[in-house]
Amino acid sequence: MLKPLKEACGVFGVHDFKRNKVFPYIYWGLRSQNHRGHQSHGILTFDEKFHMYKGLDLVPKIKKGEIQKWLDQLPGHVGIGSIRYTTSGGTDEQSLVKGIQPLLVQSEKTGVAISFNGNIVNNHHLRRELKKKIPDFSYGCDADLICGKLFMGMENGDLASSVRACMKDVEGAFSIAGVTKNGELFAFKDPHGIRPLCCGYSEDHKICAVSSETVGLDINGFEQGFEVRPGELVIASKNGFTREQLVRSEKKAFCCFEFAYFSRPDSTLGKKHVYEVREDFGRNLGREYPETAKKADIIMSIPETGNDGAYGLHEETGVRWERASRRHRYVTERAFILLQRQRYSTIDRKINILDRKIHGKSVAVVEDSIVRGDTTKVIIEKLRKQGANKVHVFVTFPRITSPCFYGIDMATYGELIGSRYGHEEIAKIIGADTVNYQLLDDFVKATGMKKEELCLGCITGKYPTPLAQKMADKMKEKFENGFKETGRIYEAGC
Ligand code: SF4
Repeated sequence: MLKPLKEACGVFGVHDFKRNKVFPYIYWGLRSQNHRGHQSHGILTFDEKFHMYKGLDLVPKIKKGEIQKWLDQLPGHVGIGSIRYTTSGGTDEQSLVKGIQPLLVQSEKTGVAISFNGNIVNNHHLRRELKKKIPDFSYGCDADLICGKLFMGMENGDLASSVRACMKDVEGAFSIAGVTKNGELFAFKDPHGIRPLCCGYSEDHKICAVSSETVGLDINGFEQGFEVRPGELVIASKNGFTREQLVRSEKKAFCCFEFAYFSRPDSTLGKKHVYEVREDFGRNLGREYPETAKKADIIMSIPETGNDGAYGLHEETGVRWERASRRHRYVTERAFILLQRQRYSTIDRKINILDRKIHGKSVAVVEDSIVRGDTTKVIIEKLRKQGANKVHVFVTFPRITSPCFYGIDMATYGELIGSRYGHEEIAKIIGADTVNYQLLDDFVKATGMKKEELCLGCITGKYPTPLAQKMADKMKEKFENGFKETGRIYEAGC
């Protein structure tokens, strides 16, 4: 089955100290990050009470009249938003609707709403714990667990102590933006800092915002402030702005896949723009495989996330870079609502190859990553059909050998072509003449971060958290002995 790789989720939050309406900031913050989650979106604001809007699909599909309506119906000086792709819970329409974020839990005394990006590894344990304390607790997705746990903690304590308890008891990746019933905006990251979350301000520092990616700040004209630290809690309230380091972890583990695939090229991660990192990836590939690269007549990238890498490869080798494919911009059907056969043709229809640019040529194709190999295979078939003589694939992300437990939808060994096959076999399966992966050390160097600061789990099989490591080792052994996985490892609780 052809299954395109899905993004994680994106969050945005804003507090306006001048007490103006924040809805437009959230709307644009989400729209700029829609690449992180296509299945649903939601906006919550607070002004003495909570107001909420939720919808399925992409943010731009909110019609003009609707936006005006929600602008009126969602007042408030503070609010959060979410765009979501599910990596926990069901994917039928009912579950998707139930899982739309922000999530809100409130009582007479307390109330908390969150937008969540990440994935929980010890969800079985947390579910049991919450069920004992809140008998009618119903699990829809991982965000329910964090929201429930925060709420429980806040009923008897304060925000900081509840967040600290989450950081200590929850294993996994979580970057969260939230609002309390006191009208505070808060944001925090798990102690390994796996998913991105940054903070910024308006020019006069009267508005403070948090966003999964810096593009959410840029689109609103906000200055980039800082990346929230692993284990840190940030609060913006009528009393001002505070940062508190609640938990210190020995190991940071920022998701290295953000550099190659998820984040927008114009976002900043660490000290670098993502596009600069990707250009370096391309240069590295040119240095690592000079003979194969220089034999190509043209370099092209598919999909668009390979563009910057293709430019870097071109710069390093001097081989002509051609835009030999175009995307049908308005084919926006999402694979999750299509039947299997439709799914195939949608991916096939999204990309148009310009035959005159490739006919009779040896083509170097730059790919951001190969996960299952099925989309790359379709693209190579199309290139061959249009007359490409040779197809050499250059992959900016090293070979993916192991599943992800932290919010990226590649959750079994069986679905990963790189867990079963080496480079040459992969080339044969996807129909390429060669497949050339970037080397891990060069990849790490290009990110500007140290190896010890990154999660490299899906490449090395070494995970930053203990339960993930245990589950991976156990499942790998079973998989190598012929066991067929039937669902996400962390949900099976193997
Ligand atoms: S396992 Fe891979 S995709 Fe998942 S968080 Fe780590 S680096 Fe990112």
